[in-house]
Amino acid sequence: MCKKELIPGIFNYCDRWCERCPFNNRCEIFDPADQEKDWSEVDANEFIEEITATFEKTMNLLKIEADANGMNWNQLVADAKEVELEEPVLPKDHEKAVTLASNYRRQVTKWLKDHSEDIKATTVSLVQEIDLGIEYANENNTQFINAIESINWYYALIEAKLRRAISGLNSDSEAELKDFPQTHANGCAKITMLFINKSICAWEEISQIMPAQKDPILDHLALLSRMRTKIQKIFPAHEAFIRPGFDTFIL
Ligand code: SF4
Repeated sequence: MCKKELIPGIFNYCDRWCERCPFNNRCEIFDPADQEKDWSEVDANEFIEEITATFEKTMNLLKIEADANGMNWNQLVADAKEVELEEPVLPKDHEKAVTLASNYRRQVTKWLKDHSEDIKATTVSLVQEIDLGIEYANENNTQFINAIESINWYYALIEAKLRRAISGLNSDSEAELKDFPQTHANGCAKITMLFINKSICAWEEISQIMPAQKDPILDHLALLSRMRTKIQKIFPAHEAFIRPGFDTFIL
């Protein structure tokens, strides 16, 4: 695959769903071999090797970025070792947003576990409808599978990215830039919103195909909607953040 026109930093504000990414041939960290790998077959040692390789690749990219910006990499590493990390005390509103995300993750983990058989049964019945030639059965089946995959992909990422956005906002380096849209915190908030919006659409689709699940799905939607309101309030400038590639190229 040709990677001659790489988009710097594109991987910082994406959803890491590389196989579906329209820019994977322009991303520094995309590795087609990762997509072919069956992770359920990988043993612990191989997994650690993979993580180490990814970490080294990322450190290399950071070093290149530091060199390009005239920074002394060795000094940066030495300074980082001196820093004592402390958990920042978060403002109440920020804590609440993180708690909502964490509750959502727990709630969805449980729902997916409790209803795995119902999900399978729904898929089987949709396939039977396709075999019977029922109108729109094919579309419903694709829509259902995509919706379940989306929920599965985003439910934990929402919390991870929101935590990053909030800790950025509470760090000394970014707090001063609070009203400036192009901060890492706003970028993370923007991508969190994107995950939330995709999850809301996915739940609405699942609710149509699994009407018996309407009530628990309403609970998930309520959490997502409350999170969305909090993010709007905490990161008022997040929409103006420009994501490299995704917001700078017309597909
Ligand atoms: S930009 Fe695309 S290819 Fe690169 S890490 Fe993100 S999703 Fe994967």
